[in-house]
Amino acid sequence: MLAALLLALACEAGPAAEAAPLLLDRPRELRLEFGGEMGRRIDRNIDAWLLPAPISNPGMLEMLRARDRKPVPNLVPWAGEFAGKYLVSAVLALDMTSRRDLRERVAGFVRELIEAQAEDGYLGPFPKAERLLGHWDLWGHYHVILGLLLWHERTGDADAMAAACRAADLACRTYLGGSRRVIDAGSPEMNMALIHGLAILHRKTGEKRYLELAREIEKDWEGSGDYLRRGLAGQEFYRTPRPRWESLHDLQALVELRRSSGDERYSKSFENLWRSIARLDRHNTGGFSSGEQAVGHPYSPLPIETCCTIAWMALTVDMLRLTADPRAADELDLSTWNGMLGSQHPSGRWWTYSTPMDGVREASAHSIVFQARAGTSELNCCSVNGPRGLGMLSDWAVLVDPSGPFLNYLGPMTARFVLADGSPFGIEVSGTYPAGLETVRITMRPGADVETALRVRVPGWSADTWYRLEPVDGPAAGALRADAGTYLALRRRWRDGDALVLRLDERTRVEAGLREQAGRISLYRGPLLLAFDPRWNPFDEDAMPPLDGAAVAGSVARVEAPGADAFPPILLVTLPATRGGSVRLCDFAGAGSTGRAYRSWLPAVNAPPAPVILDRPRPGEAIPAGRAAFSVRPRHGAAPGERLSLHIAPAGDSAAKRAIEIERGRTFVVEGLAAGEHLWRIEARNAIGASASETRPVRVDPALPPQSAAGSGSLLDLPLRGTAEPGRGELEDVQGALPAAGPGGEADGSMKFDGKGGRARYRIHDFPEDGYAAHGWIAPASFPEGRIAQVMSAWCRPGDDPLRITIEGGKLFARIESNGRRFSTEGVPLELGRWVHVAAVKAGPKLALYVSGAERTTADVPEVIESHAELLGLGGNPLFGGDESFHGSIARFRFESPAPAPEEIRKIAASPP
Ligand SMILES: [Zn+2]
Repeated sequence: MLAALLLALACEAGPAAEAAPLLLDRPRELRLEFGGEMGRRIDRNIDAWLLPAPISNPGMLEMLRARDRKPVPNLVPWAGEFAGKYLVSAVLALDMTSRRDLRERVAGFVRELIEAQAEDGYLGPFPKAERLLGHWDLWGHYHVILGLLLWHERTGDADAMAAACRAADLACRTYLGGSRRVIDAGSPEMNMALIHGLAILHRKTGEKRYLELAREIEKDWEGSGDYLRRGLAGQEFYRTPRPRWESLHDLQALVELRRSSGDERYSKSFENLWRSIARLDRHNTGGFSSGEQAVGHPYSPLPIETCCTIAWMALTVDMLRLTADPRAADELDLSTWNGMLGSQHPSGRWWTYSTPMDGVREASAHSIVFQARAGTSELNCCSVNGPRGLGMLSDWAVLVDPSGPFLNYLGPMTARFVLADGSPFGIEVSGTYPAGLETVRITMRPGADVETALRVRVPGWSADTWYRLEPVDGPAAGALRADAGTYLALRRRWRDGDALVLRLDERTRVEAGLREQAGRISLYRGPLLLAFDPRWNPFDEDAMPPLDGAAVAGSVARVEAPGADAFPPILLVTLPATRGGSVRLCDFAGAGSTGRAYRSWLPAVNAPPAPVILDRPRPGEAIPAGRAAFSVRPRHGAAPGERLSLHIAPAGDSAAKRAIEIERGRTFVVEGLAAGEHLWRIEARNAIGASASETRPVRVDPALPPQSAAGSGSLLDLPLRGTAEPGRGELEDVQGALPAAGPGGEADGSMKFDGKGGRARYRIHDFPEDGYAAHGWIAPASFPEGRIAQVMSAWCRPGDDPLRITIEGGKLFARIESNGRRFSTEGVPLELGRWVHVAAVKAGPKLALYVSGAERTTADVPEVIESHAELLGLGGNPLFGGDESFHGSIARFRFESPAPAPEEIRKIAASPP
């Protein structure tokens, strides 16, 4: 009785005070109606998916009712998410349709969902003894709570709010006040995403326990994804310990925690991680993930999962509302019109699991059919989640701040809502965006004349944008220019019919590829990525003539009418190609809709430089005044003849700008920078064109010691004179190592490792990727029997060891394990008790083993090694549970990036310490 009373009270405390509200909000009483292809896709989603899905997949709710019946159902661990993800998509869809049948279907679904809730608040499909303790059960509840809260927000349905609270209360009873922690439920990035639902629920109800549990999960993060601290340190998202897509829903909690606490660390960390994904891991399609996670570059041909793109869009909605940065709205526009729309079949009947940059579209019920069960033949993580991508239009198309509306969506649509002061307002957008860029007409429909600011997104890609107001007022009778990548801000008293007419840049944009996409280009017109689909051409992919990047860039493509077609593309253009040929390209979302293989990375000649992505110094990192390195991300596969230049100036003093060119490599060494804040960027230039990075601030702190001559240089410098303490670097711990004689016989000239689990571990914050070396003196005391021994190793998990120097069968090897593949040099025999200088050097596609200063053997390795290594073990494997320890002495050992030249290795080997 008391418990029930407490449950009821939990939902009645009223909203919590917000210490730092978001800059942009969803307008009150928002109603949207979309025209054009988006309107058709939304309608088909309703007719072909949202209405029939719960009927043709009755197990979506039946699995909750059958949870404690026999036989125990054999469900995928995430099955509990299906109802929640479906509900989120369906409620969002209600914002953009007035259809009663959908409203009734969703209302009925919510009723049945609540009826299926167990007495203790449990809303999942697993047996009683397992409730919230394992599987992806907390993750499932996160999605169900999200759906119920959205429904409550739109309808005021108190039962839905109460059900969400009861589910959260069960989580609190399970994980607060005892010794059990959320991290114990396993699958941490999935189950810990509940933190986002808890933080929203706290904001809406003021119930402190929800925030308390959220804070406990925040502590658990440190043992898994460590998002807050990694983000604050400016670490790239793909380098964090849990770079899978589910983590993005954890990251969303950072925004809620910022709202409730006002603590800027949350928003800073969030913005850094969002920018990292946008910079490195967002594909040309606006899709996110390579094989379900971030990998540090967008060129990987691995699957781009629909759930991952949806999570990225949800994260980006938060970024837009947190910062009002129009770049976030540009990202949503890109994802929406390409990757997201491409994951929906134009019939509306199915969604993909993967929407690759090049490949075919398969229904998720086809490629991940392993998730189907009796009663849920069409259900999988993506089929229920993809429709949220359309629904999210209501989260970003139009937003407001206290001064007035922000229009982000430029396609044909009507938005009606209420301004902050309560006056009704409407915006009508007409035209054929994104196919037609020459005229986007934005007509105001206020209920009565009203004065308000209006901000209209000018896309970052629209370098040449013009606008005019109708009726024309004031002396500026002609068209005016608007700046790309900003909000065009207009404040006036708006009358019904007042219009703003935009003309956007129609020119074709070229983006060159690197790595797996080297030698190819992507083309854009407006927000649309263009793609080759053989059904619009008389030849197949293998006979496609290469495009001429120089001729295509900046040209205005000839637009064609597709003619009568079951699945007409949004855009069809003809572009001139080499060999006197031409190629017809359609929009990416329209490509492959009949099952033919399509391609968005197109063969090309004369490509301009690929985008330049900054590496070090990281966002927020301080550098010394004496000597510091600046670098870009690896550019493997860049067209020959590319030159890089660094441009740096003290903030506010562009007259003191310096420009530095380098011949080769990707690292600039700069000396003599004045203290204080500087702005820097790096440009790439070739005969065809140029490409510039973003401009990034960096703080110069004269108190920091200068970096070494080779750039970032020595990451570790270990004198090992009777102690494991580094000269440069960070010692994590040491065991089983004692001072011993050095190569010249001097006392305490080395450290001797016991070969019985002894090792020293050093922290490497960002393991280098394309050029690095480990080198030092060793004297083996005995060779291991029946196992290998690591002189050094950076192993962090199976298939991921970016460098090791290994002894096996009395021979020395240099080795790399990457993405599950193993690379090894030949073995070089060693003599027991004899000092010898050894070096393992990874430079570009080559791994070399040097002994006594001479290169003895090499192996072919990948140009770029992406690794999660954060520890370097000396005398043993830093993390592996089995024994791989080295018995012998090690003197003066270094780990460096970039790799020293062969001549340097020879010199070092010639002068023992
Ligand atoms: Zn999925």
